[in-house]
Amino acid sequence: MGKLGYSVAMKQLPYLLASDAEGNLFEIPELRMAGMNGPHIEKIASSDLIELPYGSNLYHLPKRYPVGFDPKKNTFVTLTEYKGEAVFAAAAFMAPAYLQKSRSAFKAQTDAPRLPLFSYTAVGWMNDQFYVPAIRTDKDPRQDLIHFDCELIEEKALAMSKQFPKNRLIQHIIEKCVLTYGCPAARNMVLERWEAPAPSSQSCNASCLGCISFQNAESCVPATQNRLDFTPSAEEIIELGVLHLERAPRPIYSFGQGCEGEPILNGELLEEAIGGIRKRTQKGIINLNSNASRPDTLEKLYQAGLDSIRVSLNSAQKEYYHKYYRPRGYGFEDVCQSLQVTRDFNKWSSLNYLIFPGLTDQKAEWQALDTLLKAYKVNMIQTRNLNIDPDWYIEEMGIGGQEPGMGINQWITQVKSSTPWVKLGYFNPPKEEMQQQFYL
Ligand code: SF4
Repeated sequence: MGKLGYSVAMKQLPYLLASDAEGNLFEIPELRMAGMNGPHIEKIASSDLIELPYGSNLYHLPKRYPVGFDPKKNTFVTLTEYKGEAVFAAAAFMAPAYLQKSRSAFKAQTDAPRLPLFSYTAVGWMNDQFYVPAIRTDKDPRQDLIHFDCELIEEKALAMSKQFPKNRLIQHIIEKCVLTYGCPAARNMVLERWEAPAPSSQSCNASCLGCISFQNAESCVPATQNRLDFTPSAEEIIELGVLHLERAPRPIYSFGQGCEGEPILNGELLEEAIGGIRKRTQKGIINLNSNASRPDTLEKLYQAGLDSIRVSLNSAQKEYYHKYYRPRGYGFEDVCQSLQVTRDFNKWSSLNYLIFPGLTDQKAEWQALDTLLKAYKVNMIQTRNLNIDPDWYIEEMGIGGQEPGMGINQWITQVKSSTPWVKLGYFNPPKEEMQQQFYL
């Protein structure tokens, strides 16, 4: 056993995985894999290990020494060289729907370059297999790489582009999102199934440290996608929305994608588009992925027919929220007010909760989250591994002096016992799933 994210019973921990200067990965048989929680090196529990999910990537971490566990001496060892050769740390960037329990263990050299915007999960090697401390939090297969036939995607993308030559939104999604970035939501759009994207915004009123669509020069990390350089019309958004909601199984049409700024800033455009879609179809879910900075605008979007919101949050504590989002013209209170508006309209609310072992599983953070979930009767937590250089995040959040957190296992147990109605998952739910948990 070991597939589908279930942990594998292991007597021994896998070997430490390291990299040479060229990025070739190899195991260090003298040491076992270790992990990190905040700034602390930690032992990995073998019961937390799963086989590396299909569709994950493996990274060489430049100018970072790997840290392993020596079972004979029962101590952690920082490896600066191996058999006379320089060695570097390795990490896994897991496929969607998997939550990391422990991060890659390493010590950065003083001149180590900042790491790009990915999450860096601990990874070990044993019996010809890579292992990671993680858990699958959502069984939905919508972003499983195994379900993406690249030839079919290209064929259908080009056919759709021919069918809608004048729709700039469709052309953008096909040219950039499908054929350049390989965005799973965009691929599902051309495959006429599940969740499709509706990017619309060129600007944002936040400056997230880890924003994947805009990074200033000082950050020294590249944005992984460029923001779209036009604003689609209501007609263009409506045309794609009706097409997708009418033809896809378990359909969701989502504003707020990686290749744009903040959609809620386009309030009037979205209000017109949502109203226009709902005049022509009642099928599926119209969802908004957002920083939820404008509760007043959100009210109008619900009145127009918006069904659900996914609120992006790195922390339920104002201090850490402001340090990460660096909001302009709004604050943490506005985000909370948007959750209240969602409850007032009896709509579905999810948190796009950016999980970081060492902050998320701190007692104070859990208590703040627990209070927020109860205050606004939030329906779901989407467990997202925070994609950022861990040392940079620890420094910016000022959590370098904190004790280790309770651990992700304990965090899951506490969320489930204290707020049992909250769905733990990864993806925006379709209408069918919402109805199971929440009458509409
Ligand atoms: S809210 Fe979204 S678009 Fe805005 S800075 Fe943050 S990640 Fe980027």
